[in-house]
Amino acid sequence: MSENKLQWMGLYPEELKAALAEMGEKPFRASQFFSWLHKGAYFPEMTNLSLTLREKLAEKGIDQPVEMRERRVSQLDGTKKFLYALPDGNCIEGVLMRYHYGATLCVSTQVGCKMGCRFCASTLDGCVRNLTAAEILGQVQCANRELGEERVHNIVLMGSGEPMDNYDEVVRFLRLVSHPDGLNIGLRHISVSTCGLVPQMRKFAQEGLPVTLSLSLHAPNDQIRRQIMPVALRYTMEETLDACRYYIEKTGRRVVFEYALIDGVNASEENAEELSDRLRGMQCHVNLIPLNTVKERNLFGVTEAQVSAFLNVLERRHISATRRREMGDDIEGACGQLRKKIMREDHP
Ligand code: SAH
Repeated sequence: MSENKLQWMGLYPEELKAALAEMGEKPFRASQFFSWLHKGAYFPEMTNLSLTLREKLAEKGIDQPVEMRERRVSQLDGTKKFLYALPDGNCIEGVLMRYHYGATLCVSTQVGCKMGCRFCASTLDGCVRNLTAAEILGQVQCANRELGEERVHNIVLMGSGEPMDNYDEVVRFLRLVSHPDGLNIGLRHISVSTCGLVPQMRKFAQEGLPVTLSLSLHAPNDQIRRQIMPVALRYTMEETLDACRYYIEKTGRRVVFEYALIDGVNASEENAEELSDRLRGMQCHVNLIPLNTVKERNLFGVTEAQVSAFLNVLERRHISATRRREMGDDIEGACGQLRKKIMREDHP
């Protein structure tokens, strides 16, 4: 079955060259093949490769590993939610948001997630498997097909999965998606979000990949963080913030802290004051996220007035912060929500 086939799109140019050399092909054929794959082409469209070669390539591997299965468009803001099918029958989701600075795609890095954050729908059924670099890239190709003339301009690794728990494939994805002969998406237009796997964050700081690192902080101290994020039992907040400081030092880029306001848990003005104290002097930005209620868990978002009060405290204390716009609220925009809903419809 196709699941045992090679995913050609996940190979670096030099790896494609070696693979094609073994098949008796010249290096320039590998370059042509690489460029077709990363244009989103399927074998029949690769017209400057001979039919025999295309057949040999199709026998060994897959051209585009991700297929669109379902799409929903938000009536509120035009945000699109996609459900994609993978070669082994699993499905994952993505969100395409239109901002004035260009189309932003949210991609998944795993089928499900094993981090267990209390407020997150992606983790409810655990992690099924890691995605390959080709399957992360394939999501971008799919979204580009949807966009027509326009192209995905920014990417956030904020869909299902923990990127730092699928480290090698994520790094491979980042190198391939920014390759000048491929999609050539600037690393500065990419955000990688992590719940805070400290050793991997430190390693990532040394990769020479100038992406934006987002840390899902969601709490002003260890006590609260441990209530909602099991990862906080493995690494203290100070160790996690230290890893962020190391990232800033190594890359010269600020870190973004994601903070979902949860009523009665982390959203008081006192919490905002403590958070400001913890972040003082760091080159960072705080992104306040309205919580998407996950009905399975008894966690609820806050009112507009509570968001403003929290934001005011941060601003008064000179912590750069914004409130993230809510998008696609009518289409299960939050990560994991659509997949869960579809899986329930498929397997009631
Ligand atoms: N595993 C990574 C990336 C995926 S989650 C991480 O933890 O960062 C992407 C972002 O959505 C994270 O900041 C996560 O904490 C947040 N998130 C998850 N569930 C949410 C919910 N119900 N409401 C608001 N934000 C949520």
